[in-house]
Order: sequence, then structure tokens, then C-alpha cells
Amino acid sequence: MAIRADVIVLGAGMVGVGAALALQARGRDVALIDRRGAAGRETSYGNAGLIERASVELYTFPRDIPTILRTIFGTNPAARIDWAALPQTLPWIARYFLESAPAKAAAHARAALPLIERCLDEHMKLADAAGATGLIRPSGWIKAFRTEKTLAEGAIEARRIRDYGLTFDALDAPALAKIEPSLEGFAGAIMLRDPAACVDPGGLVAAYAGLFARNGGRLFAGDARSLQQIPHGWSVATDAGLVEAGQAVVALGPWSDDVFRPLGYAIPLGVKRGYHMHYRPAGNGVLNHPVLDVDGGYLVAPMAQGLRLTTGAEFALRDAPPSPAMLEAVEPLARKTFPLGERLDAEPWLGRRPCLPDLLPVIGPAPRHPGLWFDFGHQHHGFTLGPITGRLLAEMMTGEEPFADPAPFSAERF
Ligand SMILES: Cc1cc2nc3c(=O)[nH]c(=O)nc-3n(C[C@H](O)[C@H](O)[C@H](O)COP(=O)(O)OP(=O)(O)OC[C@H]3O[C@@H](n4cnc5c(N)ncnc54)[C@H](O)[C@@H]3O)c2cc1C
Repeated sequence: MAIRADVIVLGAGMVGVGAALALQARGRDVALIDRRGAAGRETSYGNAGLIERASVELYTFPRDIPTILRTIFGTNPAARIDWAALPQTLPWIARYFLESAPAKAAAHARAALPLIERCLDEHMKLADAAGATGLIRPSGWIKAFRTEKTLAEGAIEARRIRDYGLTFDALDAPALAKIEPSLEGFAGAIMLRDPAACVDPGGLVAAYAGLFARNGGRLFAGDARSLQQIPHGWSVATDAGLVEAGQAVVALGPWSDDVFRPLGYAIPLGVKRGYHMHYRPAGNGVLNHPVLDVDGGYLVAPMAQGLRLTTGAEFALRDAPPSPAMLEAVEPLARKTFPLGERLDAEPWLGRRPCLPDLLPVIGPAPRHPGLWFDFGHQHHGFTLGPITGRLLAEMMTGEEPFADPAPFSAERF
């Protein structure tokens, strides 16, 4: 006998767990299925933990020639191209470049704004219910600059967020030293006040999954690639047996194409890979906020596991072996800047930001498969947006009035 549920959610990262909770809150019996048999063990584990309430602009492809040249010649620490993979990745990179044209990028950012505006409120509701508010610090985060020139450019960029009712503090070097006494080498910084920082991203997903389970939700270990259409819905093979439901949601992050491609969808899902490493704080060194070294192209965040250094974007194939290049490029500078002691992980962690070329997620029905829904492609912001996009998806699936226009997120836009 198959196990029955109303909805199967495939993938238990922040996006899948956010969707599962939002559906459960609307009375649906949800079966959450992940090959790891647990929640928050992949991309949603290893990120920088920012709940990016101030990200009203998207991470577009740089348009300025010096940055493009530095990336091509391998001297941009924030981005790396795997040249061996370029024949396969170039078509996607070209589409990303075209979608980053200023007018298009502004339209995409406008479409994403209703999600960004509500991201933190939606997280705090869940964190409250899950008893996990202790993992989220409402402390904002810091963009630090090495030169007066880049600081001035950063200040111009920051002023634009005021149009959205957001706030920041401009910090000169002494003001930054008061807040972050262990940092060296910065001319000044912008402190974004509205975002929050999570000190254990994987732990927060696990806490949300705990809430889902306490409310009667079931989590199964199973392979999403076993998804089959059955007469009245969908089935997936799990360690506990076959699970069947009328509806299914693909929330597999960078692995979503493993399921949608065999069904005939040519959605251009790409990845921007990134790495992290944890360090023991050196001596009496402290770090009170996540700090992005804008010129250095990396971020360091204080986490439960230690000081977590995360890298920028690597354009490589999803399943290619990890490369030491990005971390090796930034670690020496980070050591001079932050109080980084010994490495705490045996190997750098590799993650894959699941990205569409327009940097908007896909949220909504699978056009040719009744009962199948998509919720993936959250790019640099999946940890931020998982709960709020779960709500949007659940509203669409249950026939409620969606709080935001879902059209820009349609799978049919490609
Ligand atoms: C270095 C780095 C830093 C980042 N920093 C931030 C940040 O500060 N803030 C932010 O908002 N975002 C950040 N991101 C992006 C964010 O981490 C992702 O957008 C987000 O985690 C994607 O969540 P997801 O649930 O879609 O995917 P995932 O968390 O990867 O979840 C997908 C799930 O699917 C499961 N799965 C895969 N294949 C199968 C299968 N065949 N069968 C069953 N299950 C399967 C996996 O086990 C996994 O649990 C960062 C990313 C990186 C790499």
C-alpha cells in the first residue's frame, strides 16, 4: 500500500521546507522528500546566512569593462570562469549578460521586490513558531571598502536603498573600528541595518523542518528522480515505500533540472558555484557582523561553527570537481584583514547557487503537467526567500489571492 499525502515536496532545503510549511499552514498534508533524509544539508547549509532584506537590486552581470577584463584574465577575486567548461556554460552566461542590461535588470528587480519586502517578516514568523529566533541576529551586515574611491562608489549605491525606506550607516575607519575592532585595512564601510544574519543556516532549516514535523508533516528519504505521473497525481519511491499525492512541488535547488528536464522542460537553470571554509578566531579576535570585503571579493560571517569565509561566483559545471582556486585566491588577504586562525574543515565546502539568467526564481505550475509545481532558481537569495516564495506558491496552489503578481516567475517566460 502506498503512503498517501495531499502534496509531495521534493527537496528539503530552505525553499522546499518553506513551501512545505506554507502548504501545511493551509491545511495540506505534506510529504517532504530529500535524498539526504534530513533538511538543510546542501546549499541552504553552507551559505553566508544573510536574510537580505536590503537586496532591492539583483546580482547582475557586471557591465563595466575593467571588471569584465579582470574576470577574463583571472584577477577578479569575486568571480572565476572555469575555461574548460566554457563551451557548455557560455550560452547561459550570454543570456545572463543580456538579462543584466540596465532596463531589464530594473524590471526584474521590481518583480522581485514584493518578495524581498516580506522576506524577513516571513522568516521571523517561522523562527518564532519554531523556537529558533536565537539563530537570527537582527544586526544588519557590513560592506567594507579598502579605498576611498570604492567607499565613495559604495556610498552612492547605498543611497539608492533609501528610496525603498531602508537605512544604512556610513562608517569611516574609526567608526568601523569601534564596531569591529579586529578588522584591518579598510577605508570605511556601509552598514546595512535592515537585513538579519543567521548564525547557523543549516540549523535554521532543520528547526523549520522540526516545526513541520511537530505539526504532523512527514519527511522521507527518497530520490526525486523516481517521480512518476500516476492517474490522479504523482508518486515517488522512498525508503519507507511509495509516496503518492495529487500534487508535487519541485524544490530541488540546483538539482531541479534532474527532474524537469526528463519531463521535457528546457528551462535555462544554471549554477554559480561558491565555497566556504570555517576558521577558529585567532587570539582574542572577534567578529560581530557578517562583513563583505567588497574589493577583496569575499565575505566573512560569524557562525556557530566558527568564522565562515564564503567566496563569490564560480562559473563551472554543477557536477565538476571542486577547484581550490577561489578560496586560495582570497584566503591570504582575508587572513591579513580578519582574525582568522586555523582552518576547521578538512576540505572547502562547495555549494551551487541555482540561477536563471534573469535572476528571478521559477514559481508556479509546470505548464504541461497538471498537479506539478515548480519552486526553484533562487540564486543568491534562496536562504532569504525560501519562506516567502513558499507562501506565494502555496497561495497559488490553494487558490488564494497571491500577495504578489506571479507572472514574472512563470516557467513559460523562457
Ligand atoms: C557561497 C554561498 C553563499 C550564499 N549566501 C547566501 C546568503 O547569505 N543569503 C541567501 O539568501 N542566500 C545565499 N546563498 C544562496 C542560497 O544558499 C541558495 O539560493 C539556497 O540555499 C537554495 O535553496 P534550495 O532549497 O533551493 O536548494 P538546496 O538547499 O540545495 O536544497 C535542495 C535539496 O534538494 C535535495 N536533492 C537534490 N537532488 C535530489 C534528489 N534527486 N532526490 C531528492 N532530493 C534531492 C538536496 O539534498 C537538497 O536538500 C548562498 C549560496 C552560496 C553557494
